[in-house]
Amino acid sequence: MRFANFEPAYGLLGRLAVRHGYSTSRRFVSEISLGIRNFVHDVENGRRLAELALLTGIPEAAIRASTRFVDESGAMFIGRELLNARVDNKASSAAGRICPNCLRADLKEREGPMACRPHRRVRWDVIAVTACPIHGVLLIDACPACGSRLSREFASPRYCRCGCDLSEVVLAALETTDLTADHYLVGRLGGVERSTHALLDRMPLHMAGLAMVRIGRVTLAGARGLSKKGDRIEPAMQARMASLGYRMSAFSGLGDAHSHCPPGQPSGGINSDTSAHLASDSS
Ligand SMILES: [Zn+2]
Ligand SMILES: [Zn+2]
Repeated sequence: MRFANFEPAYGLLGRLAVRHGYSTSRRFVSEISLGIRNFVHDVENGRRLAELALLTGIPEAAIRASTRFVDESGAMFIGRELLNARVDNKASSAAGRICPNCLRADLKEREGPMACRPHRRVRWDVIAVTACPIHGVLLIDACPACGSRLSREFASPRYCRCGCDLSEVVLAALETTDLTADHYLVGRLGGVERSTHALLDRMPLHMAGLAMVRIGRVTLAGARGLSKKGDRIEPAMQARMASLGYRMSAFSGLGDAHSHCPPGQPSGGINSDTSAHLASDSS
C-alpha cells in the first residue's frame, strides 16, 4: 500500500479493502480470516496497529502518527498531540465527514490505482474542526444528493451509499478570516503550517477548539449568547465564532482585546458588527 499523509489507521484498512475489491473493511477482514476478533473495531480505536503495519507494509509509527488512540492513563491522543485529557465522545466523531476538494486532489495528484487514491484524514474526525483549511470549504457530513449521513462504514471515502461521487461535490468557499480557527487546529496536527498561540497552545486540542467557540460567542453576543446544553451551532457560524475567538484571545488578554488589536490584523466580526449597530442607532 502507498503511504498517505494524515491517514488514520481505519482509513488505511479501508483502502486495503478497496484494493482487494471490497466495499467495507468488515467484509474484507472476515474474508481473509485474520483470526483476530474485533479487528476492525480495534483498528478504529487505534489498536492492532502492529498487525495493520504487517498487512499494509507501512511502518507502525507512521500509522500511529495520524491515528486517534487512548493511552494507558485514559487520555486521547492523535499521534503526539493530546486531543483530550480523558475519553470524551464529543472530542472525536465516528461520522464520515469529508472534504470533497481533498478527494479531488487525491484523484489528481496521488499515484497508483484510482480506487485507492482517495483517502481519509484524521482531522476530519476532530469535532472542533469544521472546515478544511487547505481548501477553505466546510467539511460535509451528509450526501448532497440523497441527504443520508456519510459513514465510515464504507471503505472508500469517495462514494455515498447512493452512489454519489463525493469528489465531484462543489462547495462555496468560506471567507479567509473564518478559517483561522481550523487553520490553527489542523496546524497542530501537522496538516498546514502551525501557528503559535500563547493561551490555546497550553490546552488539549479539543479544549482549545471549545475555548475558541466560547470566546467568539461571548464576544459576539455577550453572556446571553452562550449555548445551553444541546444547542447546536451551524458549522459556518461555528467557524466564524471560533476564528473570532482565536483572534480575541491571541493579543493581550480578553479584558482589553479591542484596544490592543495590532494594526493590520484582521479585525474579525466584532468591529464591523459594532459599527453596523452604531449606524443603525444613529439613523
Ligand atoms: Zn480539503
Ligand atoms: Zn447519497
